[in-house]
Amino acid sequence: MHIPRLEIATGARTELVDITDRVSRALRQAGAASGALLVFSPHTTAGIAIQENADPDVRHDLLLALENAVPARAARGAYRHAEGNTDAHVKSALVGTSQWVPVEDGRLVLGTWQGIYLCEFDGPRQRHVYLTFVPA
Ligand code: ZN
Repeated sequence: MHIPRLEIATGARTELVDITDRVSRALRQAGAASGALLVFSPHTTAGIAIQENADPDVRHDLLLALENAVPARAARGAYRHAEGNTDAHVKSALVGTSQWVPVEDGRLVLGTWQGIYLCEFDGPRQRHVYLTFVPA
C-alpha cells in the first residue's frame, strides 16, 4: 500500500512539529485497515518522537533538556564535524529516526495525551516523513 510521504517545512532551528493529524489523514486516504505504521524520518539532524500533546510546555522543556544534555558547543573537548551541527546529529541519534504505531480499523492507536512529532534539530528546513503501513 503506497502512502505519499509527508512534506514538512520547519520554522526554527529546534522545534517539535505535531504531525499526528497529517499522519492520520494519510492513513485514512490510503484505506489502511489494522496493522502497524512505521513513521520514518530520512534525516540525520531530525527525529521522530511520540510525546505529550496537551501542554505545549512539555515540548519546550524537552527541547531545553536536550539542549542542556547536548549543547551546541561541547562542554569538554571540541566537536570535529566541519558542518558545525554536531549537536543536531547527536540529538537525532538520541531521539531516533522512527516510531511504530499500532493501527486499528484505520485509526492510530495512541494514548489520550500522545502525539507524533517531527523533531527538528537543525532547521529551518524542508523535511520528509515516510509512512509504511504493514497489515496485520
Ligand atoms: Zn552535519
